[in-house]
Amino acid sequence: MTNLIALNEHGGLVVPDQLVVPVAVGDGVGPDIWRAAEPILKAAAERSGKSLSFLEVPAGEEAVRRVGSPLPDETLETFKRHRVSLKGPLGTPVGGGLRSLNVAIRRELDLYACVRPVKWLPGAPSPVKRPELVDMVIFRENTEDVYAGLEWPAGSPQAEGLIGYVRDELKAKIRPGSAVGLKPMSEFGSKRLVRLALEWALREKRASLTLVHKGNIMKFTEGGFLAWGRQLAQEDYAGRVVLEAEARPDETRLILKDRIADNMFMQTLTRPDEYGALAMPNLNGDYLSDCLAAQIGGLGVAPGANLGDGLAVFEATHGTAPKYAGQDKANPASLILSGAFMLAHLGWTAAAESVRAAVAGAFAEGVFTLDLARQAGRPAVSCSAFGRAVLERLA
Ligand code: NAP
Repeated sequence: MTNLIALNEHGGLVVPDQLVVPVAVGDGVGPDIWRAAEPILKAAAERSGKSLSFLEVPAGEEAVRRVGSPLPDETLETFKRHRVSLKGPLGTPVGGGLRSLNVAIRRELDLYACVRPVKWLPGAPSPVKRPELVDMVIFRENTEDVYAGLEWPAGSPQAEGLIGYVRDELKAKIRPGSAVGLKPMSEFGSKRLVRLALEWALREKRASLTLVHKGNIMKFTEGGFLAWGRQLAQEDYAGRVVLEAEARPDETRLILKDRIADNMFMQTLTRPDEYGALAMPNLNGDYLSDCLAAQIGGLGVAPGANLGDGLAVFEATHGTAPKYAGQDKANPASLILSGAFMLAHLGWTAAAESVRAAVAGAFAEGVFTLDLARQAGRPAVSCSAFGRAVLERLA
């Protein structure tokens, strides 16, 4: 039996009991949080009768030093071959050819959905009064929108050329000398993201999925996202999904809601329990993900994944936090919980649950790294001590 994941005829994962997962440890605090997370994930797998080992692959600053490239082809090939991988935070090398390594990985592997489950773990300090009401999963489109990398500096020939085209052909005005960017959003990109979210919400028996957009202002891009999402639900999910306006009081079908993004920011604070899953374009998703992470304690505790068809890269949602790099101070919980999310994705549910329960157990006893300790008004433990505390509490 190979230790590589295969796909069944429905595109589902066939996972061997002895699995090797590639890991890009990352820059900044990456090595600190990985040292804390690795033994926990291995032990959780082992205690549920599986074997998990990790294959470190170069990416980021360390890859530049070792092989002269921040994102070697071999790393991308290894991610593809193994199908499920893990990564720490990556800084974008100043002066490098890539805008962002994270964006490059998502694009190269066509990881079109950034998925962030946001659920409060009892004991974690939170800036809101009732964090237990927060239980949402965000599906953010990863490949389009203003993050497509289509922008040009003020005064450049490209920007001036576009301004001239808009003036002469489209009879519209852009102030001369402006920097210019494009916001592409397609029916294909929008529908595949909404389909993934619908499938997940139906499988997990969530009461609703909400499409979050700014279609009131950006009629054809963000408005397109809403229209295509609704069309998909009505055409391909008839009988299983119902628009909010047509839902009955005792509705058992999945309710498709839609909210304008600025209102959604308010709703997540005022009525979080009315939302179970959210799907949205790239920029809205970037902002809303961190806003929701704050409600459950901050970036240090928020897990995430980038999903494509048959491929997944799980990652700590925060960046390299350079001010804490190499100091054994960062919170490893985001990476540990991303690892638990990965275990659940593999179908290793017992292992995933045991990791989450062990993190919650540490929080419940007030074991916090500095980010949570200062919110809770308690003394902080180191990154490695938090890792040991979670390992000790693993069932
Ligand atoms: P960041 O690295 O996420 O750090 C922002 C702040 O969040 C930190 O200063 C710290 O807050 C807190 N924080 C983040 N991770 C933490 C942890 N594990 N434990 C405790 N506190 C944590 O964001 P940034 O400073 O904007 O970005 C730095 C670099 O990371 C950039 O090169 C950026 O491109 C990259 N980045 C990478 C990813 C990724 O790999 N997915 C994501 C975002 C950014 P306090 O200062 O309040 O303590």
